[in-house]
Order: sequence, then structure tokens, then C-alpha cells
Amino acid sequence: MTSYTVINPATAEPVTEVHLASLEETDALVERAHAAFPAWRAMAPGERAALLRRFASVVDAHIEELAEIEVRNAGHTWGNATWEAGNVRDCLNYYSATPERLFGRQIPVPGGIDVTFHEPLGVVGIIVPWNFPMPIMAWGMAPALAAGNTVVLKPAELTPLTAIRIGELALEAGLPEGVLTVIPGKGSVVGERFVTHPLVRKVAFTGSTAVGKRIMAGCAEQVKRCTLELGGKSANVIFADADLAKAAASAPYAVFDNAGQDCCARSRILVERPAYDEFLGLLETAVKNMAVLDPQDRSSEMGPLISAQQREVVQGYLEGVDVAFTGSAPDGNGFWVPPTVVLAESTDQPVWREEVFGPVVAVLPFDDEAEAVAMANDTEYGLSGSIFTGDVGRALRVARGIEAGNLSVNSNSAVRYWTPFGGFKQSGLGRELGPDAPNAFTEEKNVFIADGS
Ligand code: NAD
Repeated sequence: MTSYTVINPATAEPVTEVHLASLEETDALVERAHAAFPAWRAMAPGERAALLRRFASVVDAHIEELAEIEVRNAGHTWGNATWEAGNVRDCLNYYSATPERLFGRQIPVPGGIDVTFHEPLGVVGIIVPWNFPMPIMAWGMAPALAAGNTVVLKPAELTPLTAIRIGELALEAGLPEGVLTVIPGKGSVVGERFVTHPLVRKVAFTGSTAVGKRIMAGCAEQVKRCTLELGGKSANVIFADADLAKAAASAPYAVFDNAGQDCCARSRILVERPAYDEFLGLLETAVKNMAVLDPQDRSSEMGPLISAQQREVVQGYLEGVDVAFTGSAPDGNGFWVPPTVVLAESTDQPVWREEVFGPVVAVLPFDDEAEAVAMANDTEYGLSGSIFTGDVGRALRVARGIEAGNLSVNSNSAVRYWTPFGGFKQSGLGRELGPDAPNAFTEEKNVFIADGS
């Protein structure tokens, strides 16, 4: 039997042991999910909706407990962890409206009528990364269940605890056995089995672009549906006519939130040259004021990195670069890196091009709008980004010009469960969240009914 020791990243102390499922155990649980599918699919829409609302209520009653688990397991701040648990509840409530609104269309055709149906797929496999265990679980699980699928879900090795607890809460809420099954395990065992198992009809993967490419290639063998939510290297573009104080005050949270371990992190800041010095001065004050503290302290705004290995990766990006200034970080055994602002020397530097996935942001000036758009797009990724300007026409032009799935103007907000979320280019395939998300967990079928003419 293999198990994994969960570590508290703020202290490097062990938290608990988690059993990692074997291939045989995974197969048995996929078969159980397959067996649960016909009854879940056949359940009256109102009844399935009521169960999802009850699941949301049970999660709501455990927000504090789930947040406490995430603070210990992932080093998230209390503020973030509480929001994340609430996001699970909100997604379940939002998609609980789906079963009663899973409409088809009627299309008049010669000789009769054609009606369409959205049919659930069967067993859906959801693979979750370690950076936002609860929300990303919910973004796949809630619409997939609502559309009538059963779900097998693999949390990341490093952060399985909230997913395990949410799986228990689903049973407590009355979801039948096998409708939602959380399977902690290795990517190379459980994750790969979701890809190769013929009874898993879709894989919804969130994680690195490297693993995403492998999943896509594996799914091709069975023409298996897959959606991929992958990495990012997003730009925060600041024009000289922007409210610079506002842009600088929010920029640290746009990249250092969750210690920079955020696919939407605005880890490149592009500043129009006339505003460059003033913006950097304001940014320095904002970064130095960030409360980087043990996340057990409820006033902490940034916690540690997830692991010693991740800290090593991040520190690697800081070798030989021009660090303009840093914020603070606690001493101690946790996996700490202070928020760090780097003056990039060129757009070829790894710190400018690659997803650091840590509290590091690189800054470069630009001279005009066309150059800003070209620089923002000079990346293999296209997930997110922000534009700060006082000119609404420019905001629209630049937003249309940047090749990314989720942009904000005069704001760094990235994700709302009621608007679609997903990447361009190597940031992924497909859209999660928003009103259409359940359709990604169905097939559209048309049925022709002859009128006898
Ligand atoms: P990862 O790719 O290493 O792992 C993600 C998940 O895939 C884990 O559960 C892992 O166990 C599993 N896995 C690993 N190898 C596998 C394999 N061969 N087959 C099947 N499953 C396998 O990513 P990570 O380090 O956990 O997460 C960080 C990455 O996730 C970053 O690149 C980040 O940008 C990305 N991310 C993207 C989004 C988005 O919505 N676009 C959101 C969050 C994170």
C-alpha cells in the first residue's frame, strides 16, 4: 500500500498520511461510477437539482472547517481559503439550476421536425492541480454532475484533503454512492487511468501545459473528449493615462495572491515609458506593505509556496536577474519566498517568458499601444491579463488585440463563476464556468420525427 505524507507548507511539519489509490482500486471505482450513472441520469431534473442545492448547503455549513483544512494543507491565507470554500458552494448553487434548464432545440425540417437533446456523457474524470484545490474541483464537478454525469475526481498529490472532505459532504447531502468519487493518487497512476479507461468518457484537466499535452495525446487514442486549463504568463498593461495609484495598489495582489501560484497571475507588468518611474515607486510601497505572514494569522495576505521543490524552482528564476525590490517573508522552516519585483533586461529572459509560479513579477517599459499589444502577445500562453487606462476606446482596442481568454479593464479580477473562463493558445482548450459550461459535459443529439407527409 502506498501513501503520501501531507506537509504543512508554512511549517514543513507533517499533517497526515493519505492513501494513494492503485490501478486496481481506480478501475473498481470507475466501474462503480459507471454503475451509478443510469440512475443519476434518469433522476427527475427537479430532484437532481434539489440534491445539488442540498450539497451546496452542506458545504456552506462547513466553510470554516474546509478553510481550516486548506490553510494547513496548502498554506493558503484564511481570506483566500474561506473564499475558495464559498466558491464550491456558489458553483453548486449556480449549476443546480442546470438540470431543469438543459434544453434542446426544435428545428423545422421538410417532412417533419427535428428535436435536439443534450445527453450526459457517462463517467467524467476530473484532474485537479494543487494551487486551487477547492475551486478547480468545483468548476468541473458542479456542471458535470448537473448535466447528469457521474464524476471521478483526482486531487493533486500535494493537496488532497479538502477534496476528500467535500466527497464525504456529498454523501452526507444525499448524493448516491458512486455519483461523486474522490480518488487520491498519483498522476501517473490514477490520472493516466482516467485517460486510458474506456468507461471514462471525458477528461477535464487543469494543470501544467506539459502534462496537458500528454493528456490530449492520450485522449486522442479513444477520441475521448477533453478540456484543458493550463498555464499562463499574463500581462498587466499600464498606460500613462491610467489611475496609477489604483493600478499600483492592486498590481501586487494580481501576481502575489496565493504566493504567485495562480494560473492567472499577472507576472509581466508592462508600463508606458512616461509613467515607468512613478509607477515603480508606487508599486514598491504597495509590495512592501503586503502582509506576508504564517497563514494561521488571519491578517496574512500571502503565505508560503506549496513545497521545498517549488521554492527551488522559483529561486532558480531569480539567479542573475536584476531585482528592483522585495517585500518581506517570515523566517522559519516553511517554504517562503518574499514578493519580488524584477527589472527585466529583455523579453528573452526566462523570468519574462516562463511561468514562474511563485511570487515573482518582471517589469518592462513600452513606448506605444501597438508595442504594448505585441509584447503582451509575445508568449505561447493566453490565459488572462489586465489593462489600466483612462481612455475607454483604447481599453477596447487593446482588449480586442490581446490574445487571451480573460481580460479586465481597470481591475485585476479574473474569475467569476457566472462568466466563461479559459485560455487561448497553449493556455488550454475549452471554457469552464458561465452558463454554457454544462454543455461541455454533454453530447448534442438530433432526432428527426417524420410527420407522415
Ligand atoms: P501538474 O500538471 O503537475 O498536475 C496537475 C494534475 O495532473 C495533478 O493532479 C497531477 O497529479 C496530475 N498529473 C500529473 N501527471 C499526470 C499524467 N501523466 N496523467 C494524468 N494526470 C497527471 O500541475 P500542477 O503543478 O499541479 O499545477 C500547476 C499548473 O496548473 C500551472 O501550470 C498552472 O498555470 C496550471 N493551472 C491552470 C489553471 C487554469 O484554469 N488554466 C488553473 C490552475 C492551475
